[in-house]
Amino acid sequence: MLITADIAKVRRIIQQARLKGKKVGFVPTMGALHQGHLSLVKASNRQSDFTVVSIFVNPLQFGPKEDLKKYPRRFKPDRKLLKKEKVDLLFYPSAKDLYPKDFSISVSEGQLSKFLCGISRPGHFKGVCTVVTKLFNIIQPDQAYFGQKDCQQARIIRRLVRDLNFPLEIKVLPTVRESDGLALSSRNQYLNPKQRKDARVIYQALRLAKKDIQNGQRNPARIIKAMRQRLSSVKSLKIDYLEIANAESLNKLKTIKGKVLITLAVYLAKVRLIDNIILNVD
Ligand code: AMP
Repeated sequence: MLITADIAKVRRIIQQARLKGKKVGFVPTMGALHQGHLSLVKASNRQSDFTVVSIFVNPLQFGPKEDLKKYPRRFKPDRKLLKKEKVDLLFYPSAKDLYPKDFSISVSEGQLSKFLCGISRPGHFKGVCTVVTKLFNIIQPDQAYFGQKDCQQARIIRRLVRDLNFPLEIKVLPTVRESDGLALSSRNQYLNPKQRKDARVIYQALRLAKKDIQNGQRNPARIIKAMRQRLSSVKSLKIDYLEIANAESLNKLKTIKGKVLITLAVYLAKVRLIDNIILNVD
């Protein structure tokens, strides 16, 4: 596995791979890797000839009161995991290299970012779009891999690629979960054992919604009420948002139909966790 923080070197290495006719797959991450990230890496390895993984904790996508400083950084174990997966290139740029002092251009999405996480995390998706644009320009992958766990991010990245004509394909892969249903997340390590146990209620609430819909419920308000009730069994849990929306437009649904996104963000003590499911409903 080649490892570098140097942008010019990344370009050279990838150009060489391309000259050999290799298809380049790219997995952007913020590190503290888990099986969710590795599922994207494995998909890239299957579908591409040359897999690039980036590790970069992007300051631009953290709000002033968010966890940028304490976000887990685990370079050595991450490197070991990626080596084991036979990743071709690990790119770990520095913030200084990506954002020179007088950096003054950013990319913002103006529609999908107005919902859900965009409300409680102003500027977050602008930070995401800006860094992903830069990484796409540096790596110029044929395909890039994202997780359904960050459903709004995946939606916005697809829009970014369409609207700015990036010549690449976005692949969105299913959420990888713990055996009790909790979606894997680098932030799960902030949870103490009690909070970790309580966190199971998130997926339980999503499953409850799925069951209600399978049983014929088509009224989003009723489903949300039942989900809130289930979530309220954990006293320390605070709901940031809980919505049922069209999975493409992210507009709230008045009736359950089509590609339905059920999505939520909650705080368990100070830890913000997100999760979602998508259902196709006739
Ligand atoms: P992050 O390091 O949190 O920026 O995540 C990097 C990529 O991994 C994003 O595309 C995430 O959506 C994806 N990802 C994070 N957690 C999971 C998971 N549990 N299952 C699948 N993909 C995930």
